[in-house]
Amino acid sequence: MFIDTHCHLNHERLRNDLAECLERAIAADVRKMIVVGYDAPSSEEAFRLSLAHAGTLYAAIGIHPHDAATWNDAIAARFRTLACTDAVVAIGEIGLDFYRDLSPREQQYRAFQAQLRLAEELNLPVIIHCREAYEETLALLASHPLPGVMHCWGGTPEQARWAASLGLALGFGGTLTFSSAHNVRDSATCVALEHLLLETDAPYLAPVPYRGKRNEPAFTRIVAEKLAALRGLDLEQVASITTQNAYRLFPKLASSP
Ligand SMILES: [Zn+2]
Ligand SMILES: [Zn+2]
Repeated sequence: MFIDTHCHLNHERLRNDLAECLERAIAADVRKMIVVGYDAPSSEEAFRLSLAHAGTLYAAIGIHPHDAATWNDAIAARFRTLACTDAVVAIGEIGLDFYRDLSPREQQYRAFQAQLRLAEELNLPVIIHCREAYEETLALLASHPLPGVMHCWGGTPEQARWAASLGLALGFGGTLTFSSAHNVRDSATCVALEHLLLETDAPYLAPVPYRGKRNEPAFTRIVAEKLAALRGLDLEQVASITTQNAYRLFPKLASSP
């Protein structure tokens, strides 16, 4: 079986045909999915979905760097309550995005660091969004080590080795199949297998041959096929390695039904 460790079934582009999306995922042997929040409402929706589909959908709750300005004590308090449930497996997605710079960097740092401290307090792993901020993000995590995943890896192989040396996992999705993504493929082959996770980031970044179309969790299998070819493994081996990696990083995924 495969686990999509990062999707947005809480996004309006996937909400309308959720039942069909889940059917296609199960048919592709994608049996568990982490629905990742990016602001307060989408985190609530991720939580709601994880309750409605217990054992299949799990939630991560967090404030994305784009929405860093919304972070406040009331959200922190609500996250503390949600995080105590079996359904919430991680704090995320959180991080730094210096590509779009939709929030002032000072606010991005403030929200990111506060949520890292919250994850530490709650003993939860983190799902990290990072764009054009790899040096800054990894330096921060080097000084505050936490279990986590760098989702939708887009750094260099050198940065991948640095992340792995900090104990972080690297999440690979549709970009692994993009012809221009040499750094992504080189990163996926230069770290030990125990650091690899599968994801889609659906509805974004659909793999080839669906590039440009809406992504969905079933396509995790296409990413797994690409990873198997790159690493010279059977699809079954990739399934088993990445599932074990996901269970190790997100213990609640394994312990819940
Ligand atoms: Zn992201
Ligand atoms: Zn995402």
